[in-house]
Amino acid sequence: MKSPFTFDYIIIGNGLAGLQLALAFAEDSYFKNKKIALIDKSRKSTNDKTWSFWEKEDGKWDHLISKSWNEALFFSSKQKLELNLSPYQYKSIRAIDFYNNAKTQLKSKSNFHFIIDNVLSTEEGTKPIVTTSKSKYTANHVFDSRLTKDYFNKKDKYTIINQHFKGWIIETETTAFNPEVFTMMDYRIKDNNQTTFTYVLPLSQNKALVEFTYFTPKIVEDHIYDRYLKLYISDILKIENYKITEEESGNIPMTTFPFENYSSKNITKIGTGGGWVKGSTGYSFKHTEKKITQIVSNIKEGKRPTYGLFKKRYKFYDKIFLKVLHDNNENGEWIFKQFYAKNSVNTMFSFLDENSSFKDELKIMMSLFSFSFIKAFFKTL
Ligand SMILES: Cc1cc2nc3c(=O)[nH]c(=O)nc-3n(C[C@H](O)[C@H](O)[C@H](O)COP(=O)(O)OP(=O)(O)OC[C@H]3O[C@@H](n4cnc5c(N)ncnc54)[C@H](O)[C@@H]3O)c2cc1C
Repeated sequence: MKSPFTFDYIIIGNGLAGLQLALAFAEDSYFKNKKIALIDKSRKSTNDKTWSFWEKEDGKWDHLISKSWNEALFFSSKQKLELNLSPYQYKSIRAIDFYNNAKTQLKSKSNFHFIIDNVLSTEEGTKPIVTTSKSKYTANHVFDSRLTKDYFNKKDKYTIINQHFKGWIIETETTAFNPEVFTMMDYRIKDNNQTTFTYVLPLSQNKALVEFTYFTPKIVEDHIYDRYLKLYISDILKIENYKITEEESGNIPMTTFPFENYSSKNITKIGTGGGWVKGSTGYSFKHTEKKITQIVSNIKEGKRPTYGLFKKRYKFYDKIFLKVLHDNNENGEWIFKQFYAKNSVNTMFSFLDENSSFKDELKIMMSLFSFSFIKAFFKTL
């Protein structure tokens, strides 16, 4: 009998990446005799975020979708764009529904073991070791969703934009929203000249998530988000009476930091810690699904799990974009307006999904043609 401390796979982190990976293992008979540990310091019992993403037609997570939209709005300071998303849909999932569903599925399988503990370190070897506050575990392979400390220590060497935000779910007594159309970005209220906008997900006629978001190198104090949220609700949405029923806040790294270089032979970094957040958007839900499909197939073919996970040319595009946003943060509104005004939804989404043709990529680059992009292009080269 195997020791209770020895596993085939250890997954550190029961967040988006860890649970999607565990579910993929659970769905594939190749892993049915593999002993798998999921270690997290948190029980994941609160709704700590809402994930939204676009996809064509039916998707793998449709049973968890809380709301979806076929149309979106984009507002620059002076222009309103109406975007028909077809053939895509924009879908939202409450994190708590995802956690509960994943835990129920995984707990029904005898080869999955949940361990609530704080991971202190991992050590590479033929049998990598995971040291937690209470114990030591070994596995044939470890998947680790923690961010390397280097990200915090070596920030000066890379382009880093923080996508930081605070959102309120607000409820009104009277009808205030059109639940069929969400607002992707609204630049009519900004914090000075920085790349800041409001994102609105109407959940019903009298309920919406309203989020004030920054794409900036520096973060701000909590009361600043509150100020802009209040201003947006009163001046743009024209709502006087509302109650805040939930809050969410976060800071997603949009960066050139090479998270992917921190995987080793038997320890694979996953999720944000593996560089799975798209540098230019901060979205990662669908990228996570794609990368996990690739990892599972790599393992089954005897390849290193990280084989073929990243496409170099998209990293290059992200680098240019981040450089412009970092060095000319006041240009954010113009960049996104061009992006949405000059390209079809199909072209944009397939580009952001990293499935575009070179012709579409050229078209997108032409729509962003400007001195700051040319400068960033040559600096990135
Ligand atoms: C508020 C918010 C909203 C977001 N919304 C979207 C969205 O709409 N669409 C989208 O595509 N992306 C979104 N993102 C970005 C991204 O999809 C999420 O951050 C996603 O959760 C990243 O997945 P992950 O598995 O890397 O990290 P997480 O989901 O954060 O999971 C990491 C897990 O590791 C555990 N952990 C960390 N350290 C340790 C340790 N030392 N020991 C044990 N366990 C540990 C944590 O407890 C956590 O459960 C959002 C991010 C945030 C913060």
